[in-house]
Amino acid sequence: MHELSMATSVADIILKKAQEEQATKIHEINIEIGELLFLNPEQFQFCLELVIEKTMAEGAIINITSKPSKLTCKKCGREFRWDRTPDDHYIFPVIECQCGSKDLEITEGRELNIKSIRIEKPDQ
Ligand SMILES: [Zn+2]
Repeated sequence: MHELSMATSVADIILKKAQEEQATKIHEINIEIGELLFLNPEQFQFCLELVIEKTMAEGAIINITSKPSKLTCKKCGREFRWDRTPDDHYIFPVIECQCGSKDLEITEGRELNIKSIRIEKPDQ
């Protein structure tokens, strides 16, 4: 499952980073997901909650925001956002420019950014 493997790698990064900071607990996780990753935010959150169980991040608040896509047509130079209609159920839709070209460059929308995590450190 796409969401589970992404959630697993996100959890690895977060936990490693928190360990480097000598954190004892992770309270909050803020993530931005590019809409062209085609991740289902609810499923992703569910998977992430699952993989952080029994770690210092268990029970953390998870905030997920979606990052709009940006594509450039290599043929006509048009810049546009991929408009997804709410009832689209395609996993990997074919994205086309208005001019009919499929030769597109994706400039934004494929990133998964861990924006911030809120941690607790032991008293020094
Ligand atoms: Zn075009």
